[in-house]
Amino acid sequence: MTEASRSEHADDTRTALSSATIRRAFLDHVFHTQGKPPEHASQNDLYQALAHTVRDRLVQRWISTSEAYLDQPSRTVAYLSAEFLIGPHLGNNLINLGIYSEVEAAMQALGLDLEQILAQEIEPGLGNGGLGRLAACFMDSLATLEIPALGYGIRYEYGIFQQAIIDGMQVEKTDSWLRNGNPWEIQRSEWAVQVRLGGHTEHYTDDRGRYRVRWVPAKTVVGVPFDSPILGYRVNTVNTLRLWRAEATEAFDFPTFNRGDYLGAVSKKVTSENLTKVLYPNDETEQGKELRLEQQYFFVACSLQDMLRLLAADGMPVSRFHEKFAVQLNDTHPAVAIAELMRLLVDEHDLPWDEAWDVTRQAFAYTNHTLLPEALEQWPLPLFGRVLPRHLEIVLEINTRFLEAVRIRFYGDDSRLARLSLISEHGERHVRMAHLACVGSHAINGVAALHSRLMREDVLRDFHDMWPEKFTSITNGVTPRRWLALSNPRLSRLVTDAIGEGWVTDLERLRALEPFADDAGFREQWQAARRDNKVALAELVRDCTGVAIDPSSMFDVMVKRIHEYKRQHLAVLHIIALYHRIKSAPNLDLAPRTFLFGGKAAPGYEYAKLMIRFITSVADVVNRDPQLRDRLKVVFLPNFNVSCGQRIYPAADLSEQISLAGKEASGTGNMKFAMNGALNIGTMDGANIELCDAVGADNFFAFGLTAPAVYALRAAGYDPAAYYHRNPELRAVLGLIQQGFFSHGDPAVFRGLFDEHLRHDPYLLLADFGAYVECQQRVCEAYMQPQHWQRMSVLSCARSGHFSSDRAIREYCERIWRVKPVPVHLLHRASGTPRHADSGIRAGKGH
Ligand SMILES: *Cc1c(COP(=O)(O)O)cnc(C)c1O
Repeated sequence: MTEASRSEHADDTRTALSSATIRRAFLDHVFHTQGKPPEHASQNDLYQALAHTVRDRLVQRWISTSEAYLDQPSRTVAYLSAEFLIGPHLGNNLINLGIYSEVEAAMQALGLDLEQILAQEIEPGLGNGGLGRLAACFMDSLATLEIPALGYGIRYEYGIFQQAIIDGMQVEKTDSWLRNGNPWEIQRSEWAVQVRLGGHTEHYTDDRGRYRVRWVPAKTVVGVPFDSPILGYRVNTVNTLRLWRAEATEAFDFPTFNRGDYLGAVSKKVTSENLTKVLYPNDETEQGKELRLEQQYFFVACSLQDMLRLLAADGMPVSRFHEKFAVQLNDTHPAVAIAELMRLLVDEHDLPWDEAWDVTRQAFAYTNHTLLPEALEQWPLPLFGRVLPRHLEIVLEINTRFLEAVRIRFYGDDSRLARLSLISEHGERHVRMAHLACVGSHAINGVAALHSRLMREDVLRDFHDMWPEKFTSITNGVTPRRWLALSNPRLSRLVTDAIGEGWVTDLERLRALEPFADDAGFREQWQAARRDNKVALAELVRDCTGVAIDPSSMFDVMVKRIHEYKRQHLAVLHIIALYHRIKSAPNLDLAPRTFLFGGKAAPGYEYAKLMIRFITSVADVVNRDPQLRDRLKVVFLPNFNVSCGQRIYPAADLSEQISLAGKEASGTGNMKFAMNGALNIGTMDGANIELCDAVGADNFFAFGLTAPAVYALRAAGYDPAAYYHRNPELRAVLGLIQQGFFSHGDPAVFRGLFDEHLRHDPYLLLADFGAYVECQQRVCEAYMQPQHWQRMSVLSCARSGHFSSDRAIREYCERIWRVKPVPVHLLHRASGTPRHADSGIRAGKGH
C-alpha cells in the first residue's frame, strides 16, 4: 500500500458516527456497493448498505484490536464450539457502538424505517439452541470485558432448518442464510490450511534412530477461514469469530478429468465441500454419523493450525502453546482437539510425549453441558479409526498411560478401570469423548450448581474421585446487550431513567430498581412498557399465524427446543385441564390467558414432532370454541430463533421452565425472561434453582419433584397409574385425549403420545401434574392482582443481575483461563505518528 492510498483511509471523518456522516456513507453504499440508485433500492439493498456502513465503523477498531494483541502478547481464549447461534449482527452492533439513535435519525431523514431494515437480516442460525446461543453470549461478553479471544467454529452453508407448520405439523426447509451474501464476514484465503482425513499410518525409525509415525491420509481438504467482527459494548475491542469452510484441494481431479469424466472430476470437489454443508439439527442427541466426526475434526484441526500460526507470530515455540492459549471445549464436540494437539506436538514438532501431554493438559478446559445419556458422544472404534487412524492410536496411547495411573492410584480396585477407560467395552467398542475431554483438560465445569453436583456425583463421578481439584461450576449467563438493551428498548429506557445506564455492563446494578417496585407511578410505567411489547408481539403473531390474541390477557410462554425432558406436553395437559374446568363451569373466574409455544423438533425425533402436533391440535379446538369467549388462546409460533426470541422474551408475563428435575443442565431462557420482567414457573432444575433463590421464592412459581425426590421415587418404584387413579382431573384430561377429542374423534393420532404413560412415564409427567396445576392456580390468582404482579415483575428484573454472561465470563477468566483484559486504543492513523518501524505492513500476522 502506498502512502497516498493509505492516507485516504486515514481520514477518520469518513467513518465518523454522526447522523449526517452515516446518512452520506449509507447512500454511498446503496450506490457503490449495491449498485442501485436510491430510488430503486430494494429492502435488501437498504439492509446491505446499512450493514456495510456499520461494518466500516467496526474495521478501524478491529484492526486496532489485532495490533494491540500483537503489541502486547497475552494469553488468549480460544473458544472452540461446533455451534454459534449468533443471531442478527446489525442491531447488536448499533447498540454496542452506541449509534442506534444516530442511525435511526439518519434513516428517518431519508424516509426509511430502521426497524424494517433490521428485520431484513437473515440471521446466522449456526446452532441448535441453548449451547450455541451460550457461545454467542460469551463472545459478546469477552469483547465487552476486553479479553483477547477468538471464537472458532464451522461456517455451515445451511444452518438450523427453517420450520414451517403445515396442517399442524412441522415441516423443515433448508436455511440458505447466505443467499443474499453475508456483509459481516471477510474471507481470509491467505490463512487457509490443509486438513487430512482417513487413510492409514506407517511406523518407522528415523535417521536419528527415533520411533516415528507417518499418517498417510486418504484425502486432504482445505479449510478457509471466514472472520466476523465481534464488537464489545462501548469499547474498542473487536474480537474475531473465525468460522471454517471446507473446500477441495483442487477444483478438479485432473486424472479423472483427463479421462474425459468431467462430472466425476467435479464430484470430488463436491464431496470435500459437503464437510461444512449443513449443521446437524439434533439437540441433545448424538447419532454417531461419520460426516459429523469429520466436521468436528475438520474445524478443530483448522483452528489448532491457526493457533500455531499465531504462536509463531509471537515468536513462541510450540512448547509454550499453553502460555499463549486457553482453549475451551464447548461440550465434547471439539474434544478430538486433545488428540490433534498431541499429534501436532509429537508427530510434527518432535516434542517428547510427556512434554506434549503437559502442554495439552494445561491448555485445555472442558465444559460439560448435559447428563442425558443419549447426548453423550461415543464413536464406534472402527468408524473413529477409519476417519482418524492416527488419532485412534493417540487416544489408545493416552488411555494406556491413564489407566496405568488409575491402577496405581486406586490399587486393588480394578472395577474403576472399565468405568474410567476412554474406550467403552459394552458391546461394540466406542471412544468416549467426555472421558477424553476429562483426561486431557485441567479444568472441567458444569453450567449450574445442580448440574455440576450431579455431574460430580453421577456421570463423571470416577473422574471427580481421581481429580477433585479439576472440577468447578460456572452458572451460565446471557448478554444483557442483546437480551435487554437491544430487544427491549422500552423497558431499557425506563430502567436507565430510573437508575442510570451502568446496568448494561454491570448487571448487578439492576438491584437499584428494588425500591421502585413499591412506587405505584413507576409500576404503571413498567406495565405500560411491557404492554407495548405485548401489543407488538400480538402483531407478529397475527402476521405469522393469522390468530388474533389479546394483549390484556396473560402471555404464558414456552419457547425452547421441543423435547420430552423439557415437557411441553405437561404444559398442554394444564391447558386441557383449564379447558375442561371452563367447559364444566362456564362462569369460572379465571384470568384470560394466551399460551404461546415455539421451538423446533429434531427432524428425526418423531415423538417431539408429535408433541408439536399435539399443541397445534389443542390450539385448534380451544381457539374455535365460542363458549370460551376468548378466555384461552393457544398459539404455536413457527420457526423460533434468535430474531423472534428478541420479540418474545420482552412480551411474556409468565415463562414456562418445567423440565423434569435433574434433566436441564442450566437453561438460559429462564434468565432472559426474568431480566425482561416475566415471572418464571418452574421446577427445581438447572439454573431455575439459583434464579429462584436470587429473585426470591415469592417471585418465582416453584413446583414439583426435586432431583433427589425424583431419584427416591424411582428407587421406590414409580407407579404412574397410582397418580392417575388419585387425580380425577388428570383422568378427565387424559380421557379427552384418548377419546380423540383433539383429533377430530380419531383416537389413533395421539396414541403414541400418552398410551404408555400409565405404565411407563419416563419424564414423570403424571407425578408432577397435580403440583403443576395447583401452582398454575397460584399464578392465576397473582395475575388477577395487577399491582402485586407488576411488583413481582420489577423485582424479578431487579434481582436477575447475577445471570449476566459478563459474570460467567469473569468466573471463567479467574478460575479456568487465567486471562486478563487488554484494553484497545484506537489507532488514529490521521495523526501520522508511525507506531512501528516497519510502518504497518506485517504480512501474514495479526489475529
Ligand atoms: C435462549 C435460547 C434458547 C435456549 O432456551 P432454553 O429455554 O434455555 O432451552 C434456545 N434457542 C434460542 C433461539 C434462544 O434464544
